[in-house]
Amino acid sequence: MQTRTLIIGGGLAGLALAARLSAEGQDFMLVEARDRWGGRILSAQCDGAAFDLGPAWFWPGQPRIAALIARLGPSRFDQFYQGDLLYEDERGQVQRGRGFASMQGSWRLQGGLGALIDKLLGEIPADKRLCATPIKALAKTRDGVTARTAAGVEITAQKVILALPPRVAAQLSYTPALPSDAVISMARIPTWMAGQAKAVAVYDRPFWRESGLSGDAMSRFGPMVECHDASPSQGGPYALFGFIGVPPDMRRDTDALRAALHAQLVRLFGRNAQDPKHLFIQDWAADPFTATSLDQRPVHAHPDYGLPRALSGLWEKALVFGGTEVAPSFGGYLEGALEAAEQAHTTLTTA
Ligand SMILES: Cc1cc2nc3c(=O)[nH]c(=O)nc-3n(C[C@H](O)[C@H](O)[C@H](O)COP(=O)(O)OP(=O)(O)OC[C@H]3O[C@@H](n4cnc5c(N)ncnc54)[C@H](O)[C@@H]3O)c2cc1C
Repeated sequence: MQTRTLIIGGGLAGLALAARLSAEGQDFMLVEARDRWGGRILSAQCDGAAFDLGPAWFWPGQPRIAALIARLGPSRFDQFYQGDLLYEDERGQVQRGRGFASMQGSWRLQGGLGALIDKLLGEIPADKRLCATPIKALAKTRDGVTARTAAGVEITAQKVILALPPRVAAQLSYTPALPSDAVISMARIPTWMAGQAKAVAVYDRPFWRESGLSGDAMSRFGPMVECHDASPSQGGPYALFGFIGVPPDMRRDTDALRAALHAQLVRLFGRNAQDPKHLFIQDWAADPFTATSLDQRPVHAHPDYGLPRALSGLWEKALVFGGTEVAPSFGGYLEGALEAAEQAHTTLTTA
């Protein structure tokens, strides 16, 4: 196979770039390792509603995601925050009170962020995209790059956009080997939220709202350390979600984790919480297309992202980084994925 631009990674960044190149009538190919599109964006369906197992929020002051949503259609709604908050101390004692709702002012998307991925996919011709196609190796050629898939298929391109986390990109094989400062730089860039896991408990009734709770909870006991309402904008089923604070190597026993999650939901929200109609658990740290061994410790403070000098202009500018972690202003966020796609597009058009 041959193309002008090969985009590796069908998360938001890769899809946004592919949609733009498609609209411009340019020659490209988009390849994705997983058998689904969206990367860290993943919305699970349950009884007609969608629940985000990866990102859920976007915020005012993020112009690219706002413009994309305005163009593609799904509407946004406010994160639910009205009501009392809960705090669980290190002994599992729960207190209820008023306070600052940390996610007040955040927006969510109707139908989940997966709806945005479906809309973007609709803008990319089916013969220009391949999923379930992990790229294993890249080799520099006289005119560009040859990529080899896990199945041994070769795709030659003038430019390759690495629309994936730099640490994941570091696991490909490169011929010739990349300069050592580039390899060190890739390993140093933490993949935002890669060490995290999320649990979403789905219920027929929003019993916490009915008793004056917002669904917000902080816990020093766990396994969830921070919970919020995850219900759709209107109607049910309703949901609570939490970030799991137990380290990745201690949450591999999913039966034990499920039991601990059920127990915590009851401690926090009462007996009505004991029997969710579904309990989704998504452990991103266990997914090799998002997290590497370096990501097994969650990053708590937001890193300083951007494109390091060591990763620019590689292979005579044929190798271009284009995932959220290289975005200069909004790195790590959905907005950063779009910013990185824009930055990669500029590289394609100015080279
Ligand atoms: C639990 C969680 C919560 C989050 N919450 C928020 C939030 O509320 N708001 C927010 O703005 N951001 C949030 N984020 C971050 C947000 O998800 C990312 O910024 C964004 O999705 C990154 O998009 P991307 O396209 O750059 O990378 P990715 O989505 O990681 O896409 C990279 C793609 O490359 C593919 N790939 C990997 N290796 C290969 C290979 N060898 N060959 C081919 N393809 C490959 C992967 O499968 C993946 O599809 C959250 C992330 C997580 C995990």
